[in-house]
Amino acid sequence: MSKSVSICVIGSGYVGLVAAVCFAEMGHRVICVDNDDAKVKTLREGGVPIFEEHLPQLLAKHRDRGVEFTANLASAVERSEAIFIAVGTPQGETGAADMSYVEAVVSEIARHVNSYKVIVEKSTVPVYTNEWVSRVLHRHGVDPTSFDVVSNPEFLREGTAVLDFMHPDRIVIGSNTDRSAAVLRRIYEPLTSGSYYDQPGALAGTCSAVRPARILFTSAQSAEIIKHASNAFLALKISFINAVANLAEAVDADIEDIAKGMGMDSRIGPRFLRAGLGYGGSCFPKDVAAFQWVAQQKGVNFKLLQEISSINEAQRDIFFNKVLSALWTLRGKRLAALGLAFKGETDDVRDSPAIEVIKRLLDAGVIIKAYDPAAMERAKEVLQPSIKMQYAADVYEAATDADAVLILTDWSEFAEIDLVQLKQVVRFPIVIDGRNLYKPQKMQDHGFTYVSVGRPSNYHAQQGKPRGMVS
Ligand code: NAD
Repeated sequence: MSKSVSICVIGSGYVGLVAAVCFAEMGHRVICVDNDDAKVKTLREGGVPIFEEHLPQLLAKHRDRGVEFTANLASAVERSEAIFIAVGTPQGETGAADMSYVEAVVSEIARHVNSYKVIVEKSTVPVYTNEWVSRVLHRHGVDPTSFDVVSNPEFLREGTAVLDFMHPDRIVIGSNTDRSAAVLRRIYEPLTSGSYYDQPGALAGTCSAVRPARILFTSAQSAEIIKHASNAFLALKISFINAVANLAEAVDADIEDIAKGMGMDSRIGPRFLRAGLGYGGSCFPKDVAAFQWVAQQKGVNFKLLQEISSINEAQRDIFFNKVLSALWTLRGKRLAALGLAFKGETDDVRDSPAIEVIKRLLDAGVIIKAYDPAAMERAKEVLQPSIKMQYAADVYEAATDADAVLILTDWSEFAEIDLVQLKQVVRFPIVIDGRNLYKPQKMQDHGFTYVSVGRPSNYHAQQGKPRGMVS
């Protein structure tokens, strides 16, 4: 039997596109389907619709060889043994995941099951989705012996998606039959045996031939819960450190020292203990809400999940109030907004705390000049350019004549600003940092009033003076 598996990936977004090219990189034959004709056209013509490290190179390597792009779901399903569903599962009005995209895809798949198929949930879905997918297929008259439904949740992070996929902490396969588990085992074999990492030109990362990727087989329900519980736990860490940061601020302690001291405990670990504006993006907010909904439906008391979201939302209010306190009044003030993406190293602005803060400031009458290294085009779709909402080509253009500079996204570029140049261009040397990218002492040494999260502010150290004003 050939080791290569014929794979169809439905959805060519952050997860689907990355999965498709990574499966091709592992040696499989992949057809990537999207119902967005413009996206398919871009992909076919050599374009790269999302900003993601290593993606352009892998696309160039595999396009029209290992991976093809199409809007024709029927033929893609008929030609594939494994069908990965990677469409969106956004938050619905009740907090539950809106499963209508998944249902639409499953109904379409049902009409084209011409041989045994493994239907894989790659999208993040609530527990028992595998049951629902099976039920929909049965209702469409598909022979129950001609398919299995497997949960294979995706843990990649935007910004490092390709490396996360090729060098995963773990691969989780939730399958209720040996036959379908065997297909998934074959798909991931290059990573789990380590053979991929020995190939010339293999992407280097944390896994290797001697330390290959780990794979965990569970029931479908357990795999579905692993994904929701993992995201909720990471969100919990962020909200926890933010709540501690608010306390630290109230007692003049330093959250960076506190997080360091906590993170040195190997039972806690340092990651996801970064105080700031809170989490955003297309996953954590909706996944916490969806997990909460699942618990509610099952009559399980899991109010902790509500608290995670409440703390997160409050961080945005707290930051807004910091801007207000630093500037006294807002109407007519000119603010530089550094960052639009929901986090650094991505162009994704979905549920971005930066965008929400900017919207509130615009409502309060400020003039914003924003800069983001990758997310400006996407941001323009939600914050249309106008006299009040302007976009700049770099940090210094955004900051020119600003009454204050706001750091809203943790891009590495924003941690390396030339502070001398920044001070020269701003109207007032005030930096309000929602991501704690600088040491307060350094900002003070450069003559900035610096307000950050969970650390004493140096309001009194040196009050900003308008550029050109002689003391
Ligand atoms: P996305 O919005 O970037 O991509 C979804 C794609 O599916 C779009 O290109 C859309 O056009 C396409 N699509 C929708 N309906 C379709 C249909 N009927 N036929 C064909 N294509 C269709 O979404 P994403 O960020 O890739 O997320 C997908 C899923 O993966 C979600 O459930 C998400 O929670 C989960 N997830 C996302 C991430 C992440 O970092 N983005 C990480 C892990 C898991």
